[in-house]
Amino acid sequence: MVSLQCVYFKMNQPPFFENINLFDIDLSLQKIIRKNNAPALEEELKEIGQVIGSEEMINHGKLANKYEPIFHSHDSKGSRIDLIEFHPSYHALMDTAISNQLHAEPWSSQKNNAHLSRMSKYYLYSQNESGTGCPISMTFASVPAIQNYMSNADVWMKGILSINYDPRNIPFYEKKGLTIGMAMTEKQGGTDVRANETVAKPIGVRGRGNLYTLTGHKWFCSAPMCDAFLTLAQTDKGLSCFLFPRWKEDGTKNDFRIQRLKTKLGNKSNASSEIEFEGAHAWLMGEEGRGIVTIIEMVSMTRYDCMIGSSSIMRRAVNEAIHHCQYRSVFGKKLIDQPLMQQVLSDLCLETNASLAMTAYTAHCLDQKESEVHLLLLRILLPTGKYYITKRASSVIVEAMECMGGNGYIEDSLFPRLYREAPVNAIWEGSGNVQCLDVFRAFTKMPELIEVIFVELEGVDNSYYKKRKLDLKQNIKNLLTNESQARFLTETIATLLQVRSMAFFGMDDSVEQYCQARFKQQINLFGNSLITNPIQLIENTYAFN
Ligand SMILES: Cc1cc2nc3c(=O)[nH]c(=O)nc-3n(C[C@H](O)[C@H](O)[C@H](O)COP(=O)(O)OP(=O)(O)OC[C@H]3O[C@@H](n4cnc5c(N)ncnc54)[C@H](O)[C@@H]3O)c2cc1C
Repeated sequence: MVSLQCVYFKMNQPPFFENINLFDIDLSLQKIIRKNNAPALEEELKEIGQVIGSEEMINHGKLANKYEPIFHSHDSKGSRIDLIEFHPSYHALMDTAISNQLHAEPWSSQKNNAHLSRMSKYYLYSQNESGTGCPISMTFASVPAIQNYMSNADVWMKGILSINYDPRNIPFYEKKGLTIGMAMTEKQGGTDVRANETVAKPIGVRGRGNLYTLTGHKWFCSAPMCDAFLTLAQTDKGLSCFLFPRWKEDGTKNDFRIQRLKTKLGNKSNASSEIEFEGAHAWLMGEEGRGIVTIIEMVSMTRYDCMIGSSSIMRRAVNEAIHHCQYRSVFGKKLIDQPLMQQVLSDLCLETNASLAMTAYTAHCLDQKESEVHLLLLRILLPTGKYYITKRASSVIVEAMECMGGNGYIEDSLFPRLYREAPVNAIWEGSGNVQCLDVFRAFTKMPELIEVIFVELEGVDNSYYKKRKLDLKQNIKNLLTNESQARFLTETIATLLQVRSMAFFGMDDSVEQYCQARFKQQINLFGNSLITNPIQLIENTYAFN
């Protein structure tokens, strides 16, 4: 019998990109892990890379997105149930994510590189499927707020840190594992949460840990099957943070209704809903009037996860493109051997390497918990990375799609899903301008950050880089006089930090080429950078089989 692979070969069609170990082919991630001197983590990533790249997981990703979540407001006897039905593949993906601790590792593990470890696993996981990343990320990000501001945090932490995925729609105290969501955005204000109109009234005694009722709405509430959600509502003292559960403590259904699910451009496996509160019970977290301070760390961590998610889908797109070009011949020559295609692919490698390195460096800073300097640095790294990396994802994916020729545009391929997914990380958790204004505000409110950044940017020996850094140094005070320059400021810092991060992880080839491509020539269209020795850059990024 003639094998399918043989048939594809004869038709000049590359084999499917499946049953490929995603860690084994990722030479950039390997470099980062080796620099961290973490052989045990390397073994774990090898295992996860095999699972995530398997045909079975790839199929789960396809099915969970093809068969979108269905909302059931009532059961067959007319009782209100507010239930979302997911395809079994969605549950299989969630189970894989939770059993590998993608929702919890830094909070439950004793590893000194727990953030780097979780980041690497989440990066491999999201290369296959992104929608399930929403509840996973929100659960991960909720932990610091719950630990610091809930009075009975232990009860919640036990369920959140569990490695059991329990999708049953039953009260939180009966479950083997919990997931947590976040509902802040209202119709009249997403960015400007101070415009929130949902009202919270104490049921008895006011104050932290006590029960209030919520009345109002949320315009966006993703993953509405989570067991509880952090939210913001107005009390007499102003905007305050609350945790509202799906089921009340007495085992009855909490009084909030899902109105409908949003019909979205992408992110199809994930349900995003609109909800109404009708006196829903919620516990006050932290102090009344201190809602933004209470929820802000959760927001920062979801922004960090946007960096991981976008680095991840870029890498998947570039993997697919290189794989395709390795096998596909045009005019009698493999695409990978065509000089112009090498320019495009190597330029895409530069971008994915830079994004991954910056994300991994952020994870490294998060792992330095006790260090004041790293904390300060994170104040800039997080909004800068969230802005720049999520923004670059769309262009990388479009260019990689084109490397696939017509196949990339066809719904059967992965690219339409990647393409539709790409913008969401730039929009949610604070859109582009909001991140840039955050960078601007950080520098103006904490001028000491200017010095922290320039000390951080020391140590890269490249003339284009040094010139770009000097320009920034000479101009930064001027740039900080006018917020309309916030995008330029953020982009300049982001690209410098990307180089700094690649240098930190010893990606010397990428450092040189990136400085040449992005600083000397200032070109943002892929394939125009005139990279010297492009094939070497590709071979340093992707392990051909
Ligand atoms: C698929 C999806 C799922 C979501 N899930 C959730 C969820 O689970 N929970 C939740 O709370 N929210 C969720 N959101 C909402 C999301 O976080 C908000 O849509 C986002 O933060 C932007 O807020 P907005 O829609 O109100 O836009 P606006 O605040 O109106 O912003 C519109 C634009 O104006 C820009 N802008 C804002 N302020 C300024 C300024 N001062 N100067 C210049 N430009 C500015 C912004 O960058 C943006 O580009 C979700 C969104 C999507 C798309």
